[in-house]
Amino acid sequence: MICDNLTVKDGVLYFAGQNTVELAKKYGTPLYLLDEDKIREKCRIYKHAFEKHFGPGSQLLYASKANCFKQIYEIMTEEKMGIDVVSSGEIYVALKAGYDLSDAYFHSNNKTDEDISYAMEKGIGYFVADNVEEVKAVEKEAARRGIKQKLLLRLTPGIDPHTYEAIATGKVDSKFGTPIETGQADEIVEFTLKQEHILLEGFHCHVGSQVFGEDIFERAAVVMLEFIAAMRDKYGYTARVLDLGGGYGVRYIESDPYLDIEIKVGQVAASIKETCRRLNLEMPEIHMEPGRSIVADAGMTLYTVGTVKKIPGYKNYVSIDGGMPDNPRFALYRSSYTCLPANKMDEKCDFQCSVVGRCCESGDIIQEHVMMPESIGRYDTVAVCTTGAYNYSMASNYNKLPRPPIVMLRGGRESYVAVKRESFEDLVRNDV
Ligand SMILES: *Cc1c(COP(=O)(O)O)cnc(C)c1O
Repeated sequence: MICDNLTVKDGVLYFAGQNTVELAKKYGTPLYLLDEDKIREKCRIYKHAFEKHFGPGSQLLYASKANCFKQIYEIMTEEKMGIDVVSSGEIYVALKAGYDLSDAYFHSNNKTDEDISYAMEKGIGYFVADNVEEVKAVEKEAARRGIKQKLLLRLTPGIDPHTYEAIATGKVDSKFGTPIETGQADEIVEFTLKQEHILLEGFHCHVGSQVFGEDIFERAAVVMLEFIAAMRDKYGYTARVLDLGGGYGVRYIESDPYLDIEIKVGQVAASIKETCRRLNLEMPEIHMEPGRSIVADAGMTLYTVGTVKKIPGYKNYVSIDGGMPDNPRFALYRSSYTCLPANKMDEKCDFQCSVVGRCCESGDIIQEHVMMPESIGRYDTVAVCTTGAYNYSMASNYNKLPRPPIVMLRGGRESYVAVKRESFEDLVRNDV
């Protein structure tokens, strides 16, 4: 099994210790499940590794965009995790959950004046400015309010994370951040240090997502530390914070490697400590902002099979009652997923098919080349694993399909609704 919260009993798939077929019956399909215990376990693994390798000053932020709804912020509050947010909407949801925004970092490459004003109004801890225009806009709003706003600068270290093009963000020509290589990072530091209403706390980088590369984070850290030392030598400014972003990969299929977070953090820490010694630099406060690796394998989506179409000599299709509106990742990046016959786990899987959605769109595919039992058919339950990240948060109402609910699982037998299933009424709520 690709994750340790999956088991099989009497031919039925269990997730987080609970019978998926019964959950599908109880809550209906399509259905997002989230293993609350797994989310907390991941937070604790990261926190423990950080305390061990970086000491008490270090900080972990959950990247909200991976999966954003009120209950997740309550969990992050309890787990003492900071958060990163990318829009006023995410700030709003966090506030609704009572999250204390002094531990929140506001990202994105284009914050509007309204975003900046809203975030300051609500007392956001930090802005992470992507470019010089944002620094100017933050300075202007902070001056108007007569405050000094804490801020990090997002820089691009010029590292190719060897992940999918669409989720690589640390290269020189990226949409995100200000490049070091071109000298623009140097200029933005000089400019920011001159702003009266900004307190420059340090630097941020995020090289990409679903990263497995051996030493990607180590190399990014070295580039960033060398930049910190260069700024110290040039402007007498020493960054207090270095935020290395998120991006550790998770297992979607059996052939994906397993990353041991504790070991990975240890390797990054060793590289940081060695580089700091070489540069005669005091180790900055280290931050990371994992999203996917906190929530991905805490998630599973359950569907009910409808039509099974066999086109002899060509292809077979298993159609499920959801699709790209609840999981657009295959359509976007051809992402891999493991699909399982939840009520027929003991049957031999020798029927090759594409698991497809119910939308009027040929690209509405969950996964191709899936092996299912020959008997798969109407009313069977299909489970798609590792859907906790970038599924609900990317979901749409395409073809006017109501979004599925999120049901949280904990303690091996408890389940509760954290987000309700959308109704038809919800689909016309804003229509006048
Ligand atoms: C998306 C994002 C993250 C989280 O990335 P994961 O791959 O989900 O860990 C962290 N930081 C920034 C700036 C991001 O844009």
